[in-house]
Amino acid sequence: MFNKILIANRGEIACRVIKTARRMGIRTVAVYSEADANARHVRLADEAVLLGPAAARESYLVADKIIEACLRTGAQAVHPGYGFLSENADFAEALAAAGIAFIGPPASAIRAMGSKSEAKKLMGKAAVPLTPGYHGDDQTPALLHQEADQIGYPVLIKAAAGGGGKGMRLVEKSEDFPDALASCKREAASSFGSEHVLVEKYITRPRHIEIQVFADTLGNCVYLFERDCSVQRRHQKVLEEAPAPGMTAERRRQMGEAAVAAARAVGYVGAGTVEFIANQDGSFYFMEMNTRLQVEHPVTEMITGQDLVEWQLRVAAGQPLPLAQEQLQIRGHALEARIYAEDASKGFLPSTGSLIRLSTPAETLNVRVDTGVEEGDEITPFYDPMIAKLIVWDEHRDAALARMRQALADYQVVGVTTNIAFLSRLVACPAFVGADLDTGLIERQREFLFPAAQAVPRDALLVATVGELLWEQRAAKLAARNSGDPWSPWHARDGWRMNLSAARMIGFRAPKDASPGEDGDCLSEVRVRYQGAQWAISIHGQTTLARGKKLDGDQFAVELDDRRLIASVVAVGSKRSIFLHGSTYSLLRDDPLHRVDAGDSHGGGLTAPMPGKVVALLVQPGQKVEKGAPLLILEAMKMEHTITAPATGTVKAFCYAAGEQVGDGAALVEFEANLTT
Ligand code: ADP
Ligand code: ADP
Ligand code: MG
Repeated sequence: MFNKILIANRGEIACRVIKTARRMGIRTVAVYSEADANARHVRLADEAVLLGPAAARESYLVADKIIEACLRTGAQAVHPGYGFLSENADFAEALAAAGIAFIGPPASAIRAMGSKSEAKKLMGKAAVPLTPGYHGDDQTPALLHQEADQIGYPVLIKAAAGGGGKGMRLVEKSEDFPDALASCKREAASSFGSEHVLVEKYITRPRHIEIQVFADTLGNCVYLFERDCSVQRRHQKVLEEAPAPGMTAERRRQMGEAAVAAARAVGYVGAGTVEFIANQDGSFYFMEMNTRLQVEHPVTEMITGQDLVEWQLRVAAGQPLPLAQEQLQIRGHALEARIYAEDASKGFLPSTGSLIRLSTPAETLNVRVDTGVEEGDEITPFYDPMIAKLIVWDEHRDAALARMRQALADYQVVGVTTNIAFLSRLVACPAFVGADLDTGLIERQREFLFPAAQAVPRDALLVATVGELLWEQRAAKLAARNSGDPWSPWHARDGWRMNLSAARMIGFRAPKDASPGEDGDCLSEVRVRYQGAQWAISIHGQTTLARGKKLDGDQFAVELDDRRLIASVVAVGSKRSIFLHGSTYSLLRDDPLHRVDAGDSHGGGLTAPMPGKVVALLVQPGQKVEKGAPLLILEAMKMEHTITAPATGTVKAFCYAAGEQVGDGAALVEFEANLTT
């Protein structure tokens, strides 16, 4: 076994690998970019080497620097994690040439599966069932269009070198094909360095079911059953589970054996995943093979009781697989939710910022949190905005679901927008609870999953008010202690005023992005009267008697008339995040002196939502457009974002040319709304 390994990755997966290595007594070397100098993976590793600037192209993706770091630190092997260089055959070869082991498959297997087109050709020969489609070399647009017409719509155009749900376009009808092809090729070229695409029949209401395979260098190959990853947004997995609901033993064996055949056909070694697209009747087709450890591997670990990173290390060190097929068993049910810094209500737009507050559910045998960040860390625009993976296990799916609901309710984040509330709705959604799964579930359940922003409930307003009052009390006590006259009546926070009634108003507003209307900054005036040790709080004419007592951290106990509850409030500037009964509410403390600080942006959505690059201008300056017309494509965080017209009107000018970099919040388009329509 190795004494020391280097992890050529960052975030939660680097931390995950370090954990197993440490348990096995293997020393770890982390690598990092300038943006990650204080990242959790760097803090956890035994040693760490700086690679270069934040951009992955200049740090995590530079094979030479990683090899140099191995040589400098004496690391005998490299674990590539997922993403970055994990499926880069040249990197695997360069390591071999430098005498360093690659904790992954042979370069030849990576290459064979690297192109979805080539992989399909190979799998066809190995008699693995394929999705009908065109995966040939001729890339003439007219020919591809003709093939698509022949396959019959809907079709899916896929970048052959694609991954991560990127570089894919669904085309519903023939006339949409040319535009979709151009856009797909553009994204493919910029994200994957190759314009090569394939065209496939788009399976309607499919399930994504994948098989975990493992092979060693001695010719053994097993499957560790399936994962159902049907719950996706934009072809990206959001929730994964194992085993797949409704899977029969017979179908499991068929899929497992097909996956093992696929692995054997390319001389596979190590951990791999064969992805299938399945019809509702259970029939399945090969989609692609991912030649690495998958993000969602923990659900497999939970149901098999195995540590897949340990298996990877053993196999890379030349040892046989720890178990044979007959020794592997499924126990219970596991679910994984990916916690992202993103705004689900804004098309899953990534969010960046500082994790001012991060509190995770307690880890137990049933609850696991794989994370790359801690409180105080930063979510930067340079990398994938995944914050953590929340994994739960129980004997049955229903019990696992209950665990997931509870764990999500206990997950508190302040500082960046997250998808936690969205995930909570997802696991409560009847279609998901009933295991009525297919990749369109999120789209189909839009109404349930994206409810119109609701008024902040009265209890949350009461809690926020008690929070303010407690905070003032504390601040007053501190001021008194420091003033040398702790008993001065001027420091009292009991509402006592000479010649004034002991009542005051506290104002709260809903933050702009939480309210549906354009100027939905509705104001809640809360009236507070001090009554001895308690407060009489009136909201909309209804009065509640309240008391509060500070507990640990941001938590406090609140008494509201004859009820008691525990809540917490985190304050950042004028923002208040209220955590109550497993939900989070955002409010702005209305400070009449600082009315402007909250309503920051003035442009109507024509600003860059994050730093990025302009990739295409879609209309001519001077052109009249309808509301919602696409105007410009911005590429940011490896995804294309379309900026659309906020109203019917005229595009006066573009502020940037295609190819130019733009900063966060930069004005992109000069637009004049047509006021007469
Ligand atoms: P990636 O490399 O980005 O993971 P995949 O080929 O694995 O690309 O596809 C990602 C997702 O896109 C699948 O999980 C599935 O939801 C959807 N998808 C892929 N191929 C098809 C298809 N032929 N029909 C319907 N959906 C598909
Ligand atoms: P700032 O420093 O942004 O001007 P304040 O002076 O209001 O904010 O508060 C200073 C500190 O007190 C900050 O760390 C803030 O998080 C905390 N704080 C302010 N108001 C509250 C409140 N109602 N509940 C909890 N913490 C609060
Ligand atoms: Mg895939």
